Amino acid sequence: MRPAQALIDLDALRHNYRLARQLGGGKALAIIKADAYGHGAVACARALQDEADGFGVACIEEALELRQAGIRGPILLMEGFFDAAELPLIVEHDFWTVVSSRWQLEAVEAFQTGARLHIWLKLDSGMHRLGLSPEEFRDAHARLSALPQVGPLVLMTHLARADELDSNRTREQLDIFVRATEGLAGETSLCNSPALLGWPQVRSDWVRPGLMLYGADPLYPQPSPHAAQLRPVMTLQSRVIAVRELGVGEPLGYGARFVAERPTRVGVVAMGYADGYPQFAPNGTPVLIEGVPGHLIGRVSMDMLTVDLTDHPQAGHGSLVQLWGSAPTIAELAPRCNTSAYRLPCSLKRTPRVYLSE
Ligand SMILES: *Cc1c(COP(=O)(O)O)cnc(C)c1O
Repeated sequence: MRPAQALIDLDALRHNYRLARQLGGGKALAIIKADAYGHGAVACARALQDEADGFGVACIEEALELRQAGIRGPILLMEGFFDAAELPLIVEHDFWTVVSSRWQLEAVEAFQTGARLHIWLKLDSGMHRLGLSPEEFRDAHARLSALPQVGPLVLMTHLARADELDSNRTREQLDIFVRATEGLAGETSLCNSPALLGWPQVRSDWVRPGLMLYGADPLYPQPSPHAAQLRPVMTLQSRVIAVRELGVGEPLGYGARFVAERPTRVGVVAMGYADGYPQFAPNGTPVLIEGVPGHLIGRVSMDMLTVDLTDHPQAGHGSLVQLWGSAPTIAELAPRCNTSAYRLPCSLKRTPRVYLSE
């Protein structure tokens, strides 16, 4: 069998969730959209089911997958509903929904139900993607609060630059949020992972950690006091399936991106960009070879990549190669490959996930 595997450590996931919740000081919605950033939404939700205050997903399709797998408890649709026809399903499955547009507000007003909707009302405090303007927000709050089919509101916004500790934008967004929500009833929610780790003044009733649950530091390489406590959840690994000796001047792989400048021992690893490994990882990208730091050479191809075994005489056919996990971390790896720590695990394909605990 092909030796590529993505090991998923669910104990680490629980550890990171507890850390997020403790830092937030209130309730924490575990963000498991996009198949839990590639970690498997159902398995992650099951692992957190007994302690998470709720789950956040992007859309009703993702929410239904969780309910159908037997996940109980709150599930928030963070982009709300895309069509008023979703409202009966939202009631049937007891989902929570964001309302961030006027048309959604009007759809809720027009919706007749004996149930009570749980709505998170979203303010655009400067991200300028989803959310009501400050003026619309107060009006929407009053209109929703007057409806018998709507329960207590949660007031939320999303931060655009919380991962930049030297930017003033988070403070400005907080000010806009505080002014827009002044005197309005409802719990509040602002923090994503970078805000939770980098901006203590933004913490409120509900935090919404995503990336940090999976053990990646969204502030990297800026100093962050809690980053060392995060435990990586996914380990991407495979094995050397062939070994080659190259003489000086001999090229390796597509485009001859690597040419040997010394006699070079090459290990061919069963892992490629079709597995989600970054296609444009440069020569020198770190890997772990049998637990020892090493590096990639040559262009990554669809199903294989190549590593330098010259300084790893102990390694050979069958050696274990770690592409990310404890080292290199996805936060370290991403900037070297011109991608983001969010995207790396989300890109996982073909490689089977193996869960290390229940
Ligand atoms: C994805 C998402 C989050 C989680 O963000 P991270 O940076 O991964 O912690 C929080 N809130 C909303 C609205 C999101 O869409």
